[in-house]
Amino acid sequence: MRLVLLGAPGSGKGTQAQRLQARSGVPQVSTGDLLREAVAAGTELGRAAKAVMDAGQLVDDRTMLGIIRERLARPDARRGFILDGFPRTIVQADGLARLLDEIGQPVDAVVLFEVEPVVLERRLAGRRTCRRCGRVFHVESNPPRAGEPCADGRPHDLFQRPDDDEETVRKRLSVYRERTQPLIDYYSAKGLLRRIDADGSLDDVDARLDAAIGS
Ligand code: AMP
Repeated sequence: MRLVLLGAPGSGKGTQAQRLQARSGVPQVSTGDLLREAVAAGTELGRAAKAVMDAGQLVDDRTMLGIIRERLARPDARRGFILDGFPRTIVQADGLARLLDEIGQPVDAVVLFEVEPVVLERRLAGRRTCRRCGRVFHVESNPPRAGEPCADGRPHDLFQRPDDDEETVRKRLSVYRERTQPLIDYYSAKGLLRRIDADGSLDDVDARLDAAIGS
């Protein structure tokens, strides 16, 4: 299974990618997570990316293609991948197609998560991430459950991403419209695009995603 999940910030791609990884064993590859790891580790990449991310802008295409090339070369990606947050520009999509051509592993499908803008804003405002395990929650619709503590048995240690504040969210949504939305036509023209209604309960969206990818 080689998938691209496409959708605005807050459309639920990351949550659904984590859930699909859990039920299929195919790794989620989130470029946002890879960048946040680099920021936390204080690497040169992390230092350069932090300002760009905090401003709600996109890290440059060359850097992103380098990151994805390295990540897809890791052994777990031999069983496939669920790309979450990549590609985000036409240049990245062309680069990805070339890279996957080289290894003879083209993308099977691109799933577009469709959600109304007001739902996006609500989701982003309530989104919280566990500092330790990286799981994504929502304060109202998907809070941590008592029976599902963090990996070490302690409660999840939730925080709000710095780029989820109101002003940065507005910027990220406008960057999505300008830079990423053109990928809808791009993948549609290649016959790869599947659209799903991404509003609803997590289980409903799981089922729609499974139906869209035929699993
Ligand atoms: P995400 O977690 O996918 O919302 O990504 C968080 C931030 O990381 C984005 O707002 C960008 O600044 C950066 N980022 C993640 N993926 C990409 C990408 N494919 N291209 C450029 N920047 C990215």
